[in-house]
Amino acid sequence: MRHVFIKRVNKEIEEVIKDEIIPIQKVTTTHIPEEPGSKNMITTVEINNNIKIILGKNYPFGKPKVLINDRAYFFYLKTPSDRVTKLLKNTGVDCLCCSTILCDWLVTYQINHILREIKKFNKIKREIKYNIVVKEILNKYPNIPDHLILDYLLE
Ligand SMILES: [Zn+2]
Repeated sequence: MRHVFIKRVNKEIEEVIKDEIIPIQKVTTTHIPEEPGSKNMITTVEINNNIKIILGKNYPFGKPKVLINDRAYFFYLKTPSDRVTKLLKNTGVDCLCCSTILCDWLVTYQINHILREIKKFNKIKREIKYNIVVKEILNKYPNIPDHLILDYLLE
């Protein structure tokens, strides 16, 4: 059973490197016993020093744990304010934490699915940040025509 797990993880890592859904600088894999002397291993796949995907003994039947910059993925998905909630709705997503594949984990999902999601969520977050910044700037300079500010920002 154990070698089936290792084989699957290795194949998934190969695909992470091959598909390069996000630019890949470095992938590190570590296997640590669940507890001292245990045969059950916890495997951590670290991508680019900031994304950690922790695969427990039940993986792929159980969902992995995802950390971004050593914080639980949930914090990364949390909506920080009502303003962001509204902007998020405009992108067609009600809530990032409710739309992650980790909520409805399927055995067929792989590390690449998680990376694809992170990439998609990063894009949504970038759009929201951009939207907020543009509005702030437009409000700050009410006497300068919007198109001049936008021309400048979009340069
Ligand atoms: Zn949610």
